[in-house]
Amino acid sequence: MIQPGASSLRKIAVVGQGTAGSLAAAGVSRLHPHGDHELHHIYDSRIPVVGVGEGSWPSLVQHLQQLTDLPHETVQRRLMGTRKYGVAFEGWGRRNRDFTHYFMPQRVSYAYHLSADLMADLLRESTRARHIDAKVLDIAKVEGGAQVEFEGLASERYDLVFDARGFPGELDPDRHIGIPFIPTDTAVIRRCPAIVEEDREGPVLQPTYTRAVARPHGWIFVIPLTVHTSYGYIFNREVSGLPDIEADFDAFLEADGVSEFEQRAVIPFPNFVHRRIYDGAVARIGNAAAFMEPLEATAIVSAQLQIGMVLQTRLNRPMEHLERDAPAVNRFLIDNMLCYGLFVGWHYSCGSRYDSEFWRYARDCAWPRHREAADPGAVDCAALRKFDEMIELLNRSAIDKADRERMCGVPFTSYVQMSRGLGC
Ligand SMILES: Cc1cc2nc3c(=O)[nH]c(=O)nc-3n(C[C@H](O)[C@H](O)[C@H](O)COP(=O)(O)OP(=O)(O)OC[C@H]3O[C@@H](n4cnc5c(N)ncnc54)[C@H](O)[C@@H]3O)c2cc1C
Repeated sequence: MIQPGASSLRKIAVVGQGTAGSLAAAGVSRLHPHGDHELHHIYDSRIPVVGVGEGSWPSLVQHLQQLTDLPHETVQRRLMGTRKYGVAFEGWGRRNRDFTHYFMPQRVSYAYHLSADLMADLLRESTRARHIDAKVLDIAKVEGGAQVEFEGLASERYDLVFDARGFPGELDPDRHIGIPFIPTDTAVIRRCPAIVEEDREGPVLQPTYTRAVARPHGWIFVIPLTVHTSYGYIFNREVSGLPDIEADFDAFLEADGVSEFEQRAVIPFPNFVHRRIYDGAVARIGNAAAFMEPLEATAIVSAQLQIGMVLQTRLNRPMEHLERDAPAVNRFLIDNMLCYGLFVGWHYSCGSRYDSEFWRYARDCAWPRHREAADPGAVDCAALRKFDEMIELLNRSAIDKADRERMCGVPFTSYVQMSRGLGC
């Protein structure tokens, strides 16, 4: 296939070796039709990756198979993975009943629960790049490309740079769209013994679900891998103190019959979307582009979308369209990220089985801010309109086929399942 943009994409850099950077470097190696392109994979080995990120969406199964050229079964075993068929919600909403958000078709479509570290290792094997261990000081768009400034090395010019350096230092309203309607900002991570046993003969076929359990101070995820089970308590550090979280976490594990755990990390996180994800020469991806709490595991799928959109438009569109393509791709990506944010924030809108300070804050203070935060005038995209249309569709007595296929970040079927489960 002729790819008219490929000849203007000869020198590419990926900065960062977390999940996002690893996906981008493998994607460039796989998709670029010219063997003679140059790819620099740059990262500072002194700056750790987040390394959490064990839930995904079904598109990752196909994507990893394409990137690695390995059978699905081999990929799943290399990731110490299990097959995730959806998210099992416990204690959420106003109906006081547990329910599952399935990938569709229900009980057929699956994603992975995976080890993020092992995924980066796997992707590295499929990447053909020059590896540069150095600190990047700046990445800037320049005439005809982007310039990367290094600490202790000469600067380099590239046709395209993927900036996968992780969370921004601090949010700046001029550069970032805040998502204050998501009420959480911190995670406590613990690792416990595996509850799903590895199968020596092949991949584990047993269906698994990410558990999302409402707790007085937030919620706990439980992600089963074959190597360990990952638990995370997601909460708001302004509303609840760490000692209360640790105490409730202990109580939860005890009730779950888990007697030993390894304390892994306390991770503060921002909920935001960058206003400039892509400018034609620099593409922010992963946690550098957008982040929202992990309730629906939207981070890896977001990185897949960001990398795919940028690479496909750069490879398949002639260079003369770049000035017009870049703002359109940027707006599309912002729109999608904000749709994910609205979908996730909406999960809190009906509260939970707990009438606690956190849940009152989530339902009565945080979520009502979504209209102002996602106002089209402030964010220059249509995410709020699309979200409103989804809610309006949910309230219709009859829905035709075309409407059933609509998306606002996630498919309409996800909105239906959540609406029924939450009771809103
Ligand atoms: C609590 C929690 C749970 C999560 N759960 C999920 C989940 O279930 N599913 C999901 O999809 N996602 C999840 N995520 C998100 C997941 O962590 C991200 O998808 C993943 O971490 C992507 O991170 P990243 O690659 O963008 O950045 P990072 O992992 O932060 O990597 C940044 C990279 O950039 C390099 N770097 C940074 N600064 C420089 C510099 N100046 N110069 C050179 N190199 C630099 C670092 O060395 C590193 O290699 C979760 C996140 C959190 C916080």
